[in-house]
Amino acid sequence: MLGKSEIERYSRQIMVSGLKGQESLKKAKVLVIGAGGIGSSLLPYLAAAGVGYIRFLEDDVIETSNLSRQIIYNESEVGLLKGAVAYNKITEMNPYIQVDWISEKFSQQNAALFIKDMDFLIDGSDDVTSKFLVSDLAVKSGMKAIISGIGVSQGHILVMNPQNGSPCYRCIFEKPPEIGVIPTCATEGVISPLPGVMGAMIAYLVTNFYLREEISARLYTIENMVWRTLKIQKNVECIACS
Ligand SMILES: [Zn+2]
Repeated sequence: MLGKSEIERYSRQIMVSGLKGQESLKKAKVLVIGAGGIGSSLLPYLAAAGVGYIRFLEDDVIETSNLSRQIIYNESEVGLLKGAVAYNKITEMNPYIQVDWISEKFSQQNAALFIKDMDFLIDGSDDVTSKFLVSDLAVKSGMKAIISGIGVSQGHILVMNPQNGSPCYRCIFEKPPEIGVIPTCATEGVISPLPGVMGAMIAYLVTNFYLREEISARLYTIENMVWRTLKIQKNVECIACS
Protein backbone atom coordinates (compact mmCIF):
# COMPACT_ATOMS: atom_id res chain seq x y z
CA MET A 1 0.00 0.00 0.00
CA LEU A 2 1.20 3.48 -0.81
CA GLY A 3 1.17 6.12 1.92
CA LYS A 4 -0.22 9.64 1.50
CA SER A 5 3.21 11.16 0.84
CA GLU A 6 4.01 8.51 -1.76
CA ILE A 7 0.74 9.16 -3.56
CA GLU A 8 1.63 12.85 -3.70
CA ARG A 9 5.21 12.11 -4.77
CA TYR A 10 4.16 9.84 -7.64
CA SER A 11 0.96 11.72 -8.51
CA ARG A 12 1.92 12.56 -12.10
CA GLN A 13 2.88 8.98 -12.80
CA ILE A 14 -0.25 7.67 -11.06
CA MET A 15 -2.32 9.83 -13.44
CA VAL A 16 -0.95 7.68 -16.24
CA SER A 17 -0.74 4.25 -14.64
CA GLY A 18 -3.24 4.32 -11.79
CA LEU A 19 -2.51 3.30 -8.19
CA LYS A 20 -2.29 -0.36 -9.16
CA GLY A 21 0.62 0.33 -11.50
CA GLN A 22 2.48 2.37 -8.89
CA GLU A 23 1.94 -0.36 -6.30
CA SER A 24 3.32 -2.93 -8.68
CA LEU A 25 6.39 -0.72 -9.17
CA LYS A 26 6.77 -0.61 -5.38
CA LYS A 27 6.91 -4.42 -5.32
CA ALA A 28 9.56 -4.52 -8.08
CA LYS A 29 12.96 -6.04 -7.32
CA VAL A 30 15.54 -4.88 -9.82
CA LEU A 31 19.22 -5.82 -10.03
CA VAL A 32 21.49 -3.28 -11.73
CA ILE A 33 25.06 -4.10 -12.68
CA GLY A 34 27.21 -1.00 -12.88
CA ALA A 35 26.88 2.55 -11.57
CA GLY A 36 28.94 4.20 -14.31
CA GLY A 37 27.73 6.23 -17.29
CA ILE A 38 24.50 4.29 -17.84
CA GLY A 39 23.91 3.74 -14.11
CA SER A 40 24.29 7.48 -13.46
CA SER A 41 20.93 8.15 -15.05
CA LEU A 42 19.39 4.69 -14.72
CA LEU A 43 19.70 4.41 -10.93
CA PRO A 44 18.32 7.87 -10.07
CA TYR A 45 15.36 7.41 -12.44
CA LEU A 46 14.52 3.96 -11.07
CA ALA A 47 14.72 5.36 -7.54
CA ALA A 48 12.74 8.52 -8.27
CA ALA A 49 10.03 6.64 -10.19
CA GLY A 50 9.47 4.37 -7.17
CA VAL A 51 11.08 0.98 -7.92
CA GLY A 52 10.61 -0.59 -4.47
CA TYR A 53 13.86 -2.53 -4.22
CA ILE A 54 17.07 -1.79 -6.11
CA ARG A 55 20.18 -3.93 -5.64
CA PHE A 56 23.24 -2.68 -7.49
CA LEU A 57 26.80 -3.87 -7.99
CA GLU A 58 29.70 -1.48 -8.39
CA ASP A 59 33.26 -1.82 -7.13
CA ASP A 60 35.06 1.00 -8.95
CA VAL A 61 36.52 4.19 -7.59
CA ILE A 62 35.50 7.62 -8.99
CA GLU A 63 38.10 9.00 -11.39
CA THR A 64 38.38 12.48 -12.87
CA SER A 65 37.83 11.06 -16.38
CA ASN A 66 34.41 9.73 -15.25
CA LEU A 67 33.01 13.14 -14.35
CA SER A 68 32.05 14.37 -17.83
CA ARG A 69 29.38 11.67 -18.21
CA GLN A 70 28.84 9.94 -14.84
CA ILE A 71 26.80 12.82 -13.56
CA ILE A 72 25.92 11.54 -10.11
CA TYR A 73 29.55 12.06 -9.09
CA ASN A 74 31.21 15.36 -8.20
CA GLU A 75 34.76 16.68 -8.36
CA SER A 76 35.07 16.49 -4.57
CA GLU A 77 34.23 12.76 -4.67
CA VAL A 78 37.15 11.66 -6.87
CA GLY A 79 38.90 8.74 -5.15
CA LEU A 80 35.78 7.59 -3.28
CA LEU A 81 33.95 4.35 -4.04
CA LYS A 82 31.31 4.94 -6.70
CA GLY A 83 28.89 2.55 -5.03
CA ALA A 84 29.01 4.33 -1.69
CA VAL A 85 28.40 7.74 -3.28
CA ALA A 86 25.65 6.43 -5.58
CA TYR A 87 24.00 4.63 -2.66
CA ASN A 88 23.86 7.81 -0.59
CA LYS A 89 22.50 9.89 -3.46
CA ILE A 90 19.72 7.58 -4.51
CA THR A 91 18.59 6.75 -0.98
CA GLU A 92 18.44 10.48 -0.30
CA MET A 93 16.35 10.99 -3.43
CA ASN A 94 13.61 8.65 -2.28
CA PRO A 95 13.18 7.46 1.32
CA TYR A 96 10.28 5.16 0.35
CA ILE A 97 12.40 2.59 -1.45
CA GLN A 98 15.02 0.09 -0.34
CA VAL A 99 18.48 0.10 -1.89
CA ASP A 100 21.36 -2.34 -1.44
CA TRP A 101 24.84 -1.75 -2.79
CA ILE A 102 27.27 -4.62 -3.32
CA SER A 103 30.93 -3.74 -3.83
CA GLU A 104 31.77 -6.65 -6.12
CA LYS A 105 32.06 -7.46 -9.80
CA PHE A 106 29.29 -9.61 -11.21
CA SER A 107 30.76 -13.03 -11.98
CA GLN A 108 29.91 -16.67 -12.55
CA GLN A 109 30.91 -17.33 -8.93
CA ASN A 110 28.66 -14.80 -7.22
CA ALA A 111 25.83 -14.39 -9.76
CA ALA A 112 23.44 -16.94 -8.22
CA LEU A 113 23.61 -15.18 -4.87
CA PHE A 114 22.94 -11.73 -6.30
CA ILE A 115 20.06 -12.61 -8.63
CA LYS A 116 18.27 -14.47 -5.84
CA ASP A 117 14.79 -13.04 -5.22
CA MET A 118 15.15 -10.48 -8.03
CA ASP A 119 12.64 -10.22 -10.85
CA PHE A 120 14.48 -8.02 -13.36
CA LEU A 121 18.17 -8.03 -14.32
CA ILE A 122 19.86 -5.05 -15.94
CA ASP A 123 23.40 -4.89 -17.23
CA GLY A 124 24.62 -1.31 -17.50
CA SER A 125 28.29 -2.18 -17.11
CA ASP A 126 31.18 -1.91 -19.55
CA ASP A 127 32.11 -5.54 -18.92
CA VAL A 128 31.24 -7.70 -21.90
CA THR A 129 31.43 -10.99 -19.96
CA SER A 130 28.81 -9.65 -17.57
CA LYS A 131 26.41 -9.11 -20.50
CA PHE A 132 26.66 -12.74 -21.61
CA LEU A 133 26.35 -13.91 -18.01
CA VAL A 134 23.17 -11.87 -17.48
CA SER A 135 21.73 -13.22 -20.71
CA ASP A 136 22.48 -16.85 -19.78
CA LEU A 137 21.04 -16.37 -16.29
CA ALA A 138 17.89 -14.78 -17.71
CA VAL A 139 17.43 -17.73 -20.07
CA LYS A 140 17.92 -20.24 -17.23
CA SER A 141 15.79 -18.47 -14.64
CA GLY A 142 13.14 -17.00 -16.94
CA MET A 143 13.80 -13.54 -15.46
CA LYS A 144 13.31 -10.48 -17.61
CA ALA A 145 16.53 -8.73 -18.50
CA ILE A 146 17.93 -5.68 -20.23
CA ILE A 147 21.46 -5.70 -21.56
CA SER A 148 23.13 -2.59 -22.90
CA GLY A 149 26.33 -1.78 -24.70
CA ILE A 150 27.86 1.48 -25.78
CA GLY A 151 30.45 2.81 -28.22
CA VAL A 152 31.69 6.22 -29.38
CA SER A 153 28.35 7.51 -30.72
CA GLN A 154 26.26 4.37 -30.80
CA GLY A 155 24.64 2.06 -28.31
CA HIS A 156 22.30 -0.90 -28.09
CA ILE A 157 19.74 -2.08 -25.56
CA LEU A 158 18.41 -5.63 -25.71
CA VAL A 159 15.15 -6.35 -23.88
CA MET A 160 14.74 -10.04 -23.06
CA ASN A 161 11.56 -11.74 -21.90
CA PRO A 162 12.59 -15.42 -21.85
CA GLN A 163 9.19 -16.66 -20.63
CA ASN A 164 7.76 -15.49 -23.93
CA GLY A 165 10.50 -17.22 -25.89
CA SER A 166 12.39 -14.04 -26.71
CA PRO A 167 15.88 -14.12 -28.25
CA CYS A 168 18.88 -13.79 -25.97
CA TYR A 169 22.15 -11.87 -26.21
CA ARG A 170 23.89 -14.90 -27.72
CA CYS A 171 21.29 -15.04 -30.51
CA ILE A 172 22.86 -11.78 -31.69
CA PHE A 173 26.48 -11.89 -30.58
CA GLU A 174 27.00 -15.63 -29.98
CA LYS A 175 29.97 -15.44 -27.63
CA PRO A 176 32.14 -12.87 -25.87
CA PRO A 177 34.85 -11.44 -28.14
CA GLU A 178 38.53 -11.72 -27.35
CA ILE A 179 39.64 -9.20 -24.75
CA GLY A 180 40.52 -5.86 -26.35
CA VAL A 181 38.54 -6.42 -29.57
CA ILE A 182 35.44 -4.51 -28.50
CA PRO A 183 35.96 -0.76 -28.14
CA THR A 184 34.94 0.68 -24.78
CA CYS A 185 34.48 4.21 -23.47
CA ALA A 186 37.93 3.86 -21.90
CA THR A 187 39.64 2.87 -25.17
CA GLU A 188 37.65 4.75 -27.86
CA GLY A 189 35.92 7.56 -25.99
CA VAL A 190 32.24 8.48 -25.92
CA ILE A 191 30.14 11.61 -26.31
CA SER A 192 29.21 12.50 -22.75
CA PRO A 193 25.38 12.48 -22.77
CA LEU A 194 25.02 9.20 -24.71
CA PRO A 195 25.27 6.85 -21.69
CA GLY A 196 22.82 9.12 -19.87
CA VAL A 197 20.29 8.92 -22.70
CA MET A 198 20.64 5.14 -22.69
CA GLY A 199 20.27 4.86 -18.93
CA ALA A 200 17.11 6.98 -19.07
CA MET A 201 15.73 4.80 -21.88
CA ILE A 202 16.37 1.64 -19.85
CA ALA A 203 14.68 3.20 -16.81
CA TYR A 204 11.71 4.10 -19.03
CA LEU A 205 11.42 0.53 -20.36
CA VAL A 206 11.63 -1.02 -16.88
CA THR A 207 9.25 1.48 -15.25
CA ASN A 208 6.76 1.12 -18.06
CA PHE A 209 6.85 -2.65 -17.66
CA TYR A 210 5.84 -2.52 -13.99
CA LEU A 211 3.32 0.27 -14.43
CA ARG A 212 1.53 -1.11 -17.46
CA GLU A 213 2.63 -4.74 -17.64
CA GLU A 214 3.96 -4.08 -21.10
CA ILE A 215 7.28 -5.38 -22.29
CA SER A 216 8.36 -6.31 -25.77
CA ALA A 217 11.52 -8.22 -26.52
CA ARG A 218 13.29 -5.79 -28.82
CA LEU A 219 16.72 -4.53 -29.72
CA TYR A 220 16.88 -0.74 -29.46
CA THR A 221 19.83 0.89 -31.11
CA ILE A 222 20.96 4.49 -31.15
CA GLU A 223 23.47 5.70 -33.69
CA ASN A 224 24.33 9.29 -34.49
CA MET A 225 21.31 10.46 -32.49
CA VAL A 226 18.78 8.21 -34.27
CA TRP A 227 16.91 5.51 -32.37
CA ARG A 228 15.85 2.33 -34.14
CA THR A 229 13.70 -0.49 -32.79
CA LEU A 230 14.39 -3.93 -34.18
CA LYS A 231 12.30 -7.03 -33.66
CA ILE A 232 14.88 -9.75 -33.73
CA GLN A 233 14.42 -13.46 -34.26
CA LYS A 234 15.70 -16.26 -32.10
CA ASN A 235 18.78 -17.89 -33.59
CA VAL A 236 17.71 -21.53 -34.00
CA GLU A 237 21.31 -22.58 -33.46
CA CYS A 238 21.80 -20.46 -30.32
CA ILE A 239 23.72 -22.50 -27.74
CA ALA A 240 21.92 -20.79 -24.85
CA CYS A 241 18.25 -20.48 -25.67
CA SER A 242 17.38 -22.84 -28.52
ZN1 LIG B 1 19.72 -17.19 -27.79
